[in-house]
Amino acid sequence: MRSIDVVIMGLGVHGSAAARELAARGHRVLGVEPSAARAVTGASRGPLRMLREADPSRPELNALAQESAARWRQRDPAFTGTSEAGFFRSAVGVLITPSRDADRWVGRAGDRLREIAPGDALLAGLALGRDRIAMADDRCALLDAGAAVRSLRSEAAELGAELRFGSRIRLAPEPPTGHGRLRVRVLDGGDPEGEDVTAERLLVCVGARTRELPAWAGVPGLRIEPAPMQIARFASPPLDPRRPRFHITHEGDDRFCLIPMAGGDVQFGHFEQPAGVVDPMTASRARDLAALRRYLPGTGPLRRLTTVPACYTAPPAGDFVLRWGTPRTATLVACSGVGFKFAPAVAVRVAAALEGQTPHDGASISQAATTFLDVGNGTEHH
Ligand SMILES: Cc1cc2nc3c(=O)[nH]c(=O)nc-3n(C[C@H](O)[C@H](O)[C@H](O)COP(=O)(O)OP(=O)(O)OC[C@H]3O[C@@H](n4cnc5c(N)ncnc54)[C@H](O)[C@@H]3O)c2cc1C
Repeated sequence: MRSIDVVIMGLGVHGSAAARELAARGHRVLGVEPSAARAVTGASRGPLRMLREADPSRPELNALAQESAARWRQRDPAFTGTSEAGFFRSAVGVLITPSRDADRWVGRAGDRLREIAPGDALLAGLALGRDRIAMADDRCALLDAGAAVRSLRSEAAELGAELRFGSRIRLAPEPPTGHGRLRVRVLDGGDPEGEDVTAERLLVCVGARTRELPAWAGVPGLRIEPAPMQIARFASPPLDPRRPRFHITHEGDDRFCLIPMAGGDVQFGHFEQPAGVVDPMTASRARDLAALRRYLPGTGPLRRLTTVPACYTAPPAGDFVLRWGTPRTATLVACSGVGFKFAPAVAVRVAAALEGQTPHDGASISQAATTFLDVGNGTEHH
């Protein structure tokens, strides 16, 4: 039977980043993913992800975001600033908010936000509405999600990780016991028997599928929320394509984002749901399109609308959670809705935890504002 150091279940952005990081540190890694090698499914699917190095709604994560941005930039061999060649593109983040709330956001973002004059090209085509102001943050980026994940996977493979696609791992209802190595069964599509491997550690990164895990490997209090993203093409491109950017509008608890894409498409959707939306997946198409038309009144006839279904995973404190199910198995869940960008920096903390830490000591993670849930006594380490 083959012997592995770390088996990773799920190769979305977090499993792929962990596989790369662990392989770079010299571990024998086996990553297992049900979808095909070039496919990116789960929450990591869909064209683009926004990256803000200073997010006024999550300032406690800014240091982690800045570290992640630097790691993504380094990792993108085609990075040339605004070029569309690679997966990391520098961009401007435009925040549109009622004037009465502006001070609150400026206060939290430090001096990064500058007010944009109504005639600025960044606002061309956009209806600000009365009593709303727009502010820009120049140190943002857009990540091509599929290309970023595939790049992490190929780096992991080049560093020696074995990545198996079209395969899956099923966890037993009872936790693995004893202090010996784990035995993990990898099920291949064409082979119902599968293959058993022994492993030092198992890292579970299955996103929304975490809710289907047996209790010992799950994350207590995890909420799963449908969160689709829309991609539309209109008769005439509605936004000035001169600078890569994304827009975020705030109105109470309703947060909506729109991202101009290459070729005139627009990616948009609610990234924080207005209160009272019971079934966002069903409600989203019409509601998101109505919100887009409010902000982009000159869009003209709709040529195509695609909904990319996905889910947010919301751990109890809206934080990252690495929960030790047993001394050798841990489950990682990213903070909801904004977790993609952090993957390379979170992977460093996760690798360190898998390598060195005893399961009941979250100390070295604290600098990352990452919560490690300790199943042993139910305490949280910050
Ligand atoms: C609509 C939407 C918009 C978002 N926008 C942003 C944004 O702008 N910026 C940002 O930073 N973040 C954003 N996020 C959040 C970010 O996309 C997620 O936090 C991140 O993709 C989660 O990645 P993951 O690897 O944890 O999970 P996933 O990507 O869901 O990966 C889980 C993987 O596990 C696999 N799997 C399932 N079962 C098994 C099994 N039995 N064995 C092996 N593998 C299995 C799945 O196939 C999948 O590939 C957004 C999320 C959504 C849904």
